[in-house]
Amino acid sequence: MRRPIGLTMGDPAGIGPEIIRQALARREVRARGPFVLFGEARLFPRLPRGVEFRPAGEAPGRARWTAGRMAAAAGRAAHGAVVAAVEAALRRELAAVVTAPISKEAWARAGLPYPGQTELLEELCRRRSGARCRAVMLMVGGGLRVGLATIHVALRDVPRLLSAARIVAVGRVMDAALRADFGLRKPRLAVLALNPHASDGGRFGDEEERIVRPAVARLRAAGVVAAGPLPADVAFHRARAGEFDGVLALYHDQGCIPVKTLAFASGVNCTIGLPIVRTSPDHGTAFELAGRGVADDGSLVAAIRLAAEIAARRGLRQA
Ligand SMILES: [Zn+2]
Repeated sequence: MRRPIGLTMGDPAGIGPEIIRQALARREVRARGPFVLFGEARLFPRLPRGVEFRPAGEAPGRARWTAGRMAAAAGRAAHGAVVAAVEAALRRELAAVVTAPISKEAWARAGLPYPGQTELLEELCRRRSGARCRAVMLMVGGGLRVGLATIHVALRDVPRLLSAARIVAVGRVMDAALRADFGLRKPRLAVLALNPHASDGGRFGDEEERIVRPAVARLRAAGVVAAGPLPADVAFHRARAGEFDGVLALYHDQGCIPVKTLAFASGVNCTIGLPIVRTSPDHGTAFELAGRGVADDGSLVAAIRLAAEIAARRGLRQA
């Protein structure tokens, strides 16, 4: 039997449980099974064949949350499901983990100190496998693969957090993942500039000369095919036209806006650089839609498809 793909329910008050139910009702998705679903049993009263349920993150007694409303109890439950799934993946019981969206605010209210699931995954992988892994968020969609050098931080903190070492580390993770996980033989990376027009020769900003250019030189010296610093407003067009296989963006919105604009209903957030395969839809909990049966499962379906493909390429399961 094929090694299963793990699914986590996400924030139980958000759209996670309903898009999982929708996705599992699709023949295309069930063909990628078997699955192990981690979450609260009462949210999944009926499951199709090929889906094993594992209770995780169950709130003790009566749950103190309602669909559509952010709550600490729901955040804690979502967290429990992610931890259980990642641990099963690290034990090689799962070929991949696909996580439904969580609420970062609910996690904060529950006292969970992670800005997002990516950061939690990195910590769990470091702690349990002892591996020195660096989780990089890769947005896939609209013909683009975009890696982020910084993720959930204030924009004013980005220049201080950027360093040549950080860009080199992210570039190397992207290069390795584009080869191993996406099957590209010699991936070409575009490394973006921070300032408009890559600072126009230092007229507004110096991060390009100080940080990005040395990083690109070091990547090239390490055998990575990299170009940059490239003005960000043009680089995505060039990547889509086929000039680059991956774009290394320096901050969250620089990288996420192009992908979400082009592929909101089918974009996937893929965590690369970890010993486990993890993908997730590119949207949030959408509390305003939860429980109304109107949420779109397109991005989750795409995330399951990509997880299955990467797991097969890594030899973790049969295609
Ligand atoms: Zn985000």
